[in-house]
Amino acid sequence: MEENIKRIGILGGTFDPIHNGHLIMAEMIRGTFELDKVLFIPSGNPPHKKQQMVTDAQHRYNMVCEALKGNPYFEESRIEVDREGYTYTIDTLSVLNEQYRGIATLYYIIGADVLYDLLTWKDYEKVFKTCKFIAALRPGADREGFRERIRYLEATFSASILEAEMPLIEISATMIRDRVKEGKSIRYLVPDAVESYIKKEGLYLK
Ligand code: ATP
Repeated sequence: MEENIKRIGILGGTFDPIHNGHLIMAEMIRGTFELDKVLFIPSGNPPHKKQQMVTDAQHRYNMVCEALKGNPYFEESRIEVDREGYTYTIDTLSVLNEQYRGIATLYYIIGADVLYDLLTWKDYEKVFKTCKFIAALRPGADREGFRERIRYLEATFSASILEAEMPLIEISATMIRDRVKEGKSIRYLVPDAVESYIKKEGLYLK
């Protein structure tokens, strides 16, 4: 019975824009944890970034679609893009939990630093009941502190957190936006189709 349960990874992000750092991380985690699918969920109106200017959700979603083409294990989701107002992870997880009940286990992929923010998330105890976490540890990170934090969250809140080793890929969306603005190349930092989309739509020029 257990064998039929699928394993679905969830990678949420602003994806402004999606870049090869996201794709490399998702592909490595998919392999390590034998995930059947990784769902990329661009945020609609992110509560944590409301101070900043974020590119229109439709553009960010379109770039995710372009980036994922050709990988049958990767799938984009409009779940947050289509929701009005601020979106919280628990709302998204509740929808997915309903959709995949009895069919799949959800693995929410986060960077190790997010382990220190989890308790600020809305309804975090419910979040811990709804999904497992995969926390990506990058080289140079405080491994002992990381493990201690995992032990604390597991012991106190019955969270389930798996640890993933990551190579250091120093690409960020901020770097991509800055480079476009400065007229520098973003080739090999984002998929070709994303680079073309950014050019065609004139994104990040100011
Ligand atoms: P920004 O520079 O605008 O803050 P970002 O590049 O961090 O953006 P997000 O959309 O915020 O992109 O990231 C989504 C998720 O991907 C986050 O969990 C983030 O930690 C992770 N991530 C982003 N870049 C990398 C990278 N180079 N290697 C591993 N994980 C990454």
